[in-house]
Amino acid sequence: KDFSSFGLHSDILESLVKLKFTSPTPIQAQSLPHSLQGRDIIGLAQTGSGKTAAFAIPILQALWEAQSPYFACVLAPTRELAYQIRETFDAIGANMGVRCSTIVGGMDMMEQSRELMRKPHVIVATPGRLMDHLEHTKGFSLRALKFLVMDEADRLLDMDFGPALDKILAIIPRERTTYLFSATMTSKIEKLQRASLSKPVKVSV
Ligand code: AMP
Repeated sequence: KDFSSFGLHSDILESLVKLKFTSPTPIQAQSLPHSLQGRDIIGLAQTGSGKTAAFAIPILQALWEAQSPYFACVLAPTRELAYQIRETFDAIGANMGVRCSTIVGGMDMMEQSRELMRKPHVIVATPGRLMDHLEHTKGFSLRALKFLVMDEADRLLDMDFGPALDKILAIIPRERTTYLFSATMTSKIEKLQRASLSKPVKVSV
């Protein structure tokens, strides 16, 4: 099976060709049939599995139709991971004019506020700093959010982002699509799953 069997927009397919992503990795092959149908996903997968594209592709496919600001938010435990995720969105979304912002701790708040005012489609963030902006940046909200991704959720919880996650989950729309990726399945992850996902499809590699 290759990517052409999923009904992806040509803008996305062309980017995948350019990236030399010829066939889907196992996590992509297992999750895309469900994620492209609008299902929530819980994915058990390590870095290196291709999990980033597994969640970026269905989000960009949906964004292609909608083109609306503050469409998707990806939460990651570290700055480095956030920048990598943003690069994947930029690369796969290169032909469709997608605007992404990386909102991480340790960087200038004012500069980030200005970026958020440019109405990015995709925000890749560490939870603490995102919460700071939700509380302090006037005119910024996630009321229109359609997709939430929690990447490396086990590490998000290990790094004590649990309280920020809970706050973010409490203020974003209940009607949304949610993807949770984690390397391990623990009781804390199960609890987060119950609090944030709706009838998820479980994929594991
Ligand atoms: P990730 O697990 O998302 O960090 O991805 C690991 C690496 O695999 C990244 O360098 C991606 O660019 C690459 N990758 C992801 N999907 C594919 C694919 N379908 N074919 C080839 N490489 C891929």
